Amino acid sequence: MAKRIVILGAGESGAGAAVLAKKQGFDTFVSDMSMIKDSYKNMLNERGIKWEEGKHTESLILNANEVIKSPGIPNDAPIIVKLKKQGIPVISEIEFAGRYTNAKMICITGSNGKTTTTSLIYHIFKKAGMNVGLAGNIGRSLAFQVAEYNYDYYVIELSSFQLDNMYKFHANIAVLMNITPDHLDRYDHQMQNYVDAKFRIIQNQTPDDAFIFWNDDPIIQRELHKYGIHGHYYPFSERKKEGTSAYVEQDKVYFTEPIAFNMEQEELALTGTHNLFNSMAAGISANLAGIHKECIREALGDFKGVEHRLEKVCRVKGVDYINDSKATNVNSCWYALQSMKTKTILILGGKDKGNDYNEIADLVKEKCVGLIYLGLHNEKLHEFFDHFGLPVADVQSMKDAVDAAYHMAQKGETVLLSPCCASFDLFKSYEERGEQFKECVRNL
Ligand code: ADP
Repeated sequence: MAKRIVILGAGESGAGAAVLAKKQGFDTFVSDMSMIKDSYKNMLNERGIKWEEGKHTESLILNANEVIKSPGIPNDAPIIVKLKKQGIPVISEIEFAGRYTNAKMICITGSNGKTTTTSLIYHIFKKAGMNVGLAGNIGRSLAFQVAEYNYDYYVIELSSFQLDNMYKFHANIAVLMNITPDHLDRYDHQMQNYVDAKFRIIQNQTPDDAFIFWNDDPIIQRELHKYGIHGHYYPFSERKKEGTSAYVEQDKVYFTEPIAFNMEQEELALTGTHNLFNSMAAGISANLAGIHKECIREALGDFKGVEHRLEKVCRVKGVDYINDSKATNVNSCWYALQSMKTKTILILGGKDKGNDYNEIADLVKEKCVGLIYLGLHNEKLHEFFDHFGLPVADVQSMKDAVDAAYHMAQKGETVLLSPCCASFDLFKSYEERGEQFKECVRNL
């Protein structure tokens, strides 16, 4: 009898995993506690895959040989606890898909910069004419692409939640951008659990593989020795140091291996220190894949950026409005503030994931001329920031936030939406939050 694979959660990754499982001849069943989107229902129906929605029927799930879990379902969800008790393996969609392809895997993780770096690497590879797929948290799921296409390379963004349920998967090139506190609510408020999840990116690597990482990250430096790393090291840094594979010196970015080349920092399409790191990580990845240096230079220079990440919306009465809705933790807001060239009105707030605002306190004092708290529960923001003596506004809708910013801002200043928090208290997603911001700004 065919092995039974049950997929929990029928979003992009779950539906894709189901398509691949069916194609591989497994007895496949999909179960989602919420309603399944019509497009995914069609995808399942067209292939004769059975599914249920609005419930998890235990008799149809606990008889699985293996379960593929959507990264959105926490490991302590009752159904997962039951599966584990029965000894049924629970894996991620990426782990599953990795079994059915020989393509080279370039995997990117970190607390911040994943989507930007992943998109940038994909952009360089595409421009170089490589047969490459983009997967993970962006675009089509890896499983769907493995089922339906035949790529030589995949560039995959991996969150810590995906890494949590990966065991045998092997990244040919692993990129670790940084590690700062995030999602601690899903890691028993233990930083070490989160750090361990991130370092899973290098598990199963061999000496033929590459490990690219930010050399100046204190947590990566501290933890590096613990994990028995087998891949070849490719560290990048803002400063030239022995053994760095990319660094900056006198406004030039140097790439040292395997092929040495350099480019003016000014030529990079993405600005700000954080994006310098993203560009270096992407440049090393492309260099390792044998892409010609001219092509890497050109692609690092003409990348258009990613929506909701320090995205310029427009200028209204001499005030610039910037949408950084994807800044869902304090560290990404730090980088956003740091890259501001004018006095700034900061819109922040939302669903707090255990934030420590001390990290941005100095930058807020230095750069901000007004603060707008946008959230259902703004008490923590009041408590932390009110005594800085800046004008503040407390709002519960994007329209009120933008109106308040409009009244506070003076010509030559910038209004920055960089919330430090998840969006789920008032919005469906950070995308919706960013869309609403842009719409309200354009309606000013
Ligand atoms: P992720 O996919 O990891 O959430 P994104 O590329 O979507 O990262 O960027 C999210 C936010 O984090 C951006 O709005 C930006 O302000 C900030 N950011 C981007 N790259 C970095 C980096 N390398 N280090 C720190 N912050 C970054």
